[in-house]
Amino acid sequence: MGTIIAVDIGGTHLRAAAYEAEGFKPSAHQRVQTLANEPGVFERMIKAIEEVWPQHQKVDAIGIASPGPLDPYTGCMLSTPNIKQLDNFPLGPNLSKHFQVPAFLDNDANLACLGEWRYGAGRGHHDVLYLTISTGIGGGVVARNRLLQGYHGLAAELGHSIVDPDGPPCSCGFSGHLESFSSGPAIVKYVLKELEAGTKSILKSEPGLNASQVAEAARQGDALAVSAYQRAGRYLGIAVASFMHAFDPSIIIFGGGVSQVGPLLFDSFYASLHERVFHPRYLENLRIEMAALGDDAGLLGARTLAEQSLQAIQ
Ligand SMILES: [Zn+2]
Repeated sequence: MGTIIAVDIGGTHLRAAAYEAEGFKPSAHQRVQTLANEPGVFERMIKAIEEVWPQHQKVDAIGIASPGPLDPYTGCMLSTPNIKQLDNFPLGPNLSKHFQVPAFLDNDANLACLGEWRYGAGRGHHDVLYLTISTGIGGGVVARNRLLQGYHGLAAELGHSIVDPDGPPCSCGFSGHLESFSSGPAIVKYVLKELEAGTKSILKSEPGLNASQVAEAARQGDALAVSAYQRAGRYLGIAVASFMHAFDPSIIIFGGGVSQVGPLLFDSFYASLHERVFHPRYLENLRIEMAALGDDAGLLGARTLAEQSLQAIQ
């Protein structure tokens, strides 16, 4: 097997890495600014790939982790709220044409899940549920060692699961999704609403208030801040109980900044989850772990997707 080129398209940075058949570390790595609002994102991507392209080694395929939604079967983007110029862009076919190798893509959360399964916290497991909680909530599922992609390639948008149809608006435009209760901005929004209603707190209603400041206030014992995280954890438990019923994983892996707060979120999450799974068997030997690969999860997932896709067509 030759080299695999992995690409991770973030809102701030574009990364490209070259992976040889053996080894966990890339043989070359390049990171450039995405400059999402300036023309030329695709050209910057090509340049970053050229920088890591090996001189004397054959490249077998390119794997790409991209913001979604997208169609992994045709390689076309559907829409990219943060990088408008890639809307409906045939990214896979265009990269494949330019570099004359197959190109495979999927969304960043699905590929972070695949990366964690193959190289990170999910190693040795066959059924993995992955959730990343930050400004949004992304999800991924590995079922019996295969990434769950679905008929349209749109599977595992777990942050957009409905936990309360009458709940607050979500970033996607619909209401009551998990993301609208348990993401960082959702936690802040709840605090601001309570402050407005006159709830006492050491937090002030400021435009720049963020979820880490709420976490800090909670650590100092602020009742409103504590209740904001408990509420987020409770809804996370409601959603994950349904994910257990749907996917029955042996491990749940949490990534993203909001997950770093520990017991503040997870105590109420565990309690809520335990209360709601309809049979205790779901929780037998269930592991709950933090993501192990950090920023490299997308790249390693893109690499894994390319390797698996090549094997599937050979
Ligand atoms: Zn949504």
